[in-house]
Amino acid sequence: MAEDWTQMWKELGLELGNHDKLMAALGPLYLEWFADQPNRPEAMRYFDFVISEVHGLRIKELLDHKEKGGAVVGTFCLFVPEEVVVALDGVAVGLCAGADFSVPIAEAELPRNLCPLIKSFYGFKLGKICPYFESADVVVGETTCDGKKKVYEHLGKIHPVYVMEVPNKKGPAGRELWRTELENFIAAMEEITGNRLTEDNLRAAVKKVNDKRRAIRRVHELRWNDPAPISGKDALLIMQISFYDDVERFTRKADEVADELEKRVAAGEGVFPAGTPRLMVSGTPMAIPNWKIHHVVETSGAAVVAEEMCTGFRYFKNTVNEDAKTLDEMKEALVDHYMDINCACFTPNEARLDDIEYLYKSSGAQGIIHATLSFCTPYLVEQGSVKKFAAEHDVPLVAVETDYSEGDVGQLKTRVEALVEQVSS
Ligand code: SF4
Ligand code: SF4
Repeated sequence: MAEDWTQMWKELGLELGNHDKLMAALGPLYLEWFADQPNRPEAMRYFDFVISEVHGLRIKELLDHKEKGGAVVGTFCLFVPEEVVVALDGVAVGLCAGADFSVPIAEAELPRNLCPLIKSFYGFKLGKICPYFESADVVVGETTCDGKKKVYEHLGKIHPVYVMEVPNKKGPAGRELWRTELENFIAAMEEITGNRLTEDNLRAAVKKVNDKRRAIRRVHELRWNDPAPISGKDALLIMQISFYDDVERFTRKADEVADELEKRVAAGEGVFPAGTPRLMVSGTPMAIPNWKIHHVVETSGAAVVAEEMCTGFRYFKNTVNEDAKTLDEMKEALVDHYMDINCACFTPNEARLDDIEYLYKSSGAQGIIHATLSFCTPYLVEQGSVKKFAAEHDVPLVAVETDYSEGDVGQLKTRVEALVEQVSS
């Protein structure tokens, strides 16, 4: 029987009524959308367990870490250098930002016409629903988009917040700014954790996080086989869990999935029959528990085989150079790594199209769904370039703008089914 964590949640100051409602909604949804998928890899059991204990055991681990003097650092974006947090014996956790449940709570303070990811995380804090948020000693924000950077001002009044300034351009001046921001971030994290960054602890942290990126990449690249040995939903789930699980344990478990997938590929086994239409998704990140597009696709006769998004390729595309010797060289390697993320917050961001082309071709996808969260100006505007790219390369594409509600599922399904039909004919 599962442990009762009510006392821990009370001590964290959670609003138990809201929290219970969230958990009561998520449990059945997860069972219906994930556990019932046919022919799942056995190694997914670990990830089912992680979800079943998402607000229990993992939170207990974080609190035990704090009890021993460690720090917990909440994040929302790939730009926060987790290697630094890990090196300083902190735990970086990607905070929940993908649930519709907390959106109306945020709308009491924030405009309705704001990206749901922002409203979701702010609602989690306002409603005191998320034990990760309440465990975080500090939340690290970034100036990647106007909505987020303004909401961090509100958030800073009710939770400790540290904001990193991400440059708008990738030229020498932008790189210099990011180098300074990295130094400032290191100083702030040293103060919060009480530890000093050294060559040894940073080298070990870079290796640890690189191993995590490599393990996820293995899983994701094995999906490029036909039949796909794992569903897009499960691959997305692994990606989402990577943002808050213990780094070394996660890496081991993701590698176990990859080992099993290799055997499946060798045996020609898949979760869908060979020849199932294959789609790639590109656009804004899908923060946990946002599984909507993947579920729509995989209940419409197709498989998602790649994600050009932060909950996908953008996270594991590159690893940080492990050959750097001095602390200074290691910092430069970190700057290089983060400045190579092709996020729509940059102008221009042409290299994102190269990523899309690479991933489309490598994954054997037959069509692209460009999925943007509502009111996300950077990605909505870039949608035009992606559509142009698709037209020029004869790639079937549908562009959708969606939020976390269930209201548009029927409409999404109709559009996805039309794409599936197009790529099947
Ligand atoms: S899309 Fe850009 S702003 Fe959003 S998480 Fe990714 S890197 Fe950060
Ligand atoms: S999805 Fe777009 S609007 Fe929302 S937080 Fe990310 S960059 Fe900002």
